[in-house]
Formats: sequence, structure tokens, C-alpha cells
Amino acid sequence: MSEKKHALLSASGSARWLHCTASAEAEKNFPPEKESAYAAEGTVAHALAEAKLYADVLGKDKSADIAKIKSDPYYDGDMDRYTTGYAEYVAELLAEAIAEDPLAQLLPEARVDFSRYVPEGFGTSDALILSSKRLTVVDLKYGRGVPVSAKGNSQLALYALGAYDAYSFLYSPPMVRLVIYQPRIDHIEQEDISLQTLIDWGTEYVAPRAKAAMEGSGEFDPGDHCRWCRARIRCRARAEKLRALAVKDFCDPALLSDEEMMEVLALSDTLSKWAADVYGWAQAQAESGKKIKGYKLVAGMRRRKIADEDGLLTALRRHKLKLDDIAPRKLATIGKLEKLIGKEKFKEWTADYIELPEARPILVPESDKREEIIVDLKNEF
Ligand code: SF4
Repeated sequence: MSEKKHALLSASGSARWLHCTASAEAEKNFPPEKESAYAAEGTVAHALAEAKLYADVLGKDKSADIAKIKSDPYYDGDMDRYTTGYAEYVAELLAEAIAEDPLAQLLPEARVDFSRYVPEGFGTSDALILSSKRLTVVDLKYGRGVPVSAKGNSQLALYALGAYDAYSFLYSPPMVRLVIYQPRIDHIEQEDISLQTLIDWGTEYVAPRAKAAMEGSGEFDPGDHCRWCRARIRCRARAEKLRALAVKDFCDPALLSDEEMMEVLALSDTLSKWAADVYGWAQAQAESGKKIKGYKLVAGMRRRKIADEDGLLTALRRHKLKLDDIAPRKLATIGKLEKLIGKEKFKEWTADYIELPEARPILVPESDKREEIIVDLKNEF
């Protein structure tokens, strides 16, 4: 999953530095960003997933570790279910591998060193399955935002290069399988590639780019990967590309054509994210006492909030107000109830009382993985 001690050219950041080889040097000017609550939750889920691979698949006693993880504030019943599903899935992959090669073995949380291709490159693969037929690299993604693709996934491919380097004296399989397991959005994806393709990619594509990135002789190449770059707010190359796109010349007539509107639409997402990043940076500067030319800090909108619910309730009751009027009883939200009961039981017990109304479709770029909705014009009329 990760490089717990961060390498300059990390596998998890490889989608960025392989495209923009100058970004490794540019990022040095910015401290690592604070770990988000999502990342902290992911860390706990990975620890539980690892313990379950040892306990449920390899038969080791991990009860003390599991009990400790379950006392973490980020732990919940869903995490238990998702990590059990992950362990079962890895067990299936292992069984498949053993059917082809009885000497196949599973290595949970295996440290891999891919420094043959990337200077100082190392990382930890969530699960490796070694066999003489196939090397399998499994990555558990605990996020529930965008589906992560296994196809062309440079993080997994780098782990695979490191794993092959470490274990080729025992196993020399012709094929490599890269697997993404993303349980919170029911997304599992695999990609099979030949070992030779992987090694050629490492030698011909990765190694020269990693060398340039490490030596500081890389080139800037702004793109979608910029959103993961610590230099994204101050990066001149990115700003210039966005500015050039934003001030492009439109044709003469007073109204924009459909084609021109499409060009603006294609830019809108990137430009609005960039603007939000710059605004956030300026706000932080101002709050730290720096004067931002043309701007000033003013008091934000204050909203009243109840500081002492019990005290307020008692005070209001003293004036003979009806309890139903001041504190109407309400069901917990669907999310809260589901968490309380568990997904399966919730479905079973409540199916007759829950509905899923139609939602307004969302317009997204064609590259989005979700299935397209075709609007039936006849029915619309
Ligand atoms: S913001 Fe984009 S272009 Fe600039 S250094 Fe980072 S990845 Fe490269």
C-alpha cells in the first residue's frame, strides 16, 4: 500500500513523477501535507487487513493485534466486513495459484525494493503471491471516491519489479498480475502482463525518467497528475498552461459557438480546482499574518449553536413547553442505522421501508469510469 518512510520517488507518487519528472525536485520546496482523516482510517484498515491475511489465510494467531486494532477510534463494523472480504479474496487468489503450482506462497505486507530501476525506490505491497506461473501483486484501496484502475498502474508495476528482483531466485514466472481491491465501491480490477513487458517498461521507460527526476534534470509536464503534487499551487509550468488555456482566442461573433462552449467546459474543472487551491493558500497566508495585496481578512458569518443540550432542554421544560415541540423524536440517518446494524441485516430488515429515488444525472468527462446514461429523446417529450 505505501512507503511508510517516504522515498523521494515513491511508488504511490509514480503516476506524477513519471509524467512530470521535474516534480520530485519541485516538491522538495514544500513540506509533506498533514495526514487526512481518510488516510488515517486507511492506515487502520490496512493494519487490520494484514492481520487477517496472517490469521485467516495463513493460520497465525493474531488475536492480540486484531483486538488492539479494533479499539482504534477509526475502526467500525464496516471495516471488519471489508477486510474479511479482502482476506477471502486473497485466499481465493492463493488457492488458484496453489492449484497451478503447489509451491506458491502468500507474503502479506511485503517490503519491495525496486531501486534497480528507481534510485532509493522501495515500498510495501499489501499482498504478494509468488508462484512459478504468475507473480501477483494485490493492492487494497480503502478509499470510496474514484475507482483506482489496475490497468497501467505504475505503483503496482513498480512493486512487481521489486518483488521479481527479490524472489526471482525462487520463482521465475512468465506472467505478472496486478490487482486492485477497492471494497467500499465494489471495485476489483486485474491486469495481466508478461514479465518481459514489465521488465522492458522498467528498463526503457522508468529508469531514465527516475534518473532525471532524481538528478533534478527532469522536465515539467502539467496534467491531471498535478492534483497530487505538493508544488501545485506555486508551480509556474502549471499556472502558465492553465493561463494559456484560459485566455485562448475565441472566434469573432458576439456569442460563443457550441464547440467553443465545449472548450470552456473541458477547462472548467481544472481551473476551478486551481482557483480553489490558490484561494486556500492566500487565506492561510493571511491568517498567518501576511498582508495579501488587494485583500483583507473580515469576520466570518457566525452561527449560533447549542452548547449544552441537557441544560437547554431543562430550561425550556420549566416553561411548560411540550417535549414533542421542542425535541421531536427522529430516526437516525440511513448511514447511521446501517453502521449500527451492519449492511446485510440492514438490507434484510428495512427493504420495504427504504426507497432510492431517481437522481439528476451528473455531467462528467468521458474518461470517467461510470456507465453512460443515454437520454431517450422520444420519452423525454
Ligand atoms: S504542479 Fe504539475 S507541472 Fe508542476 S511540478 Fe507538480 S506535477 Fe509538475
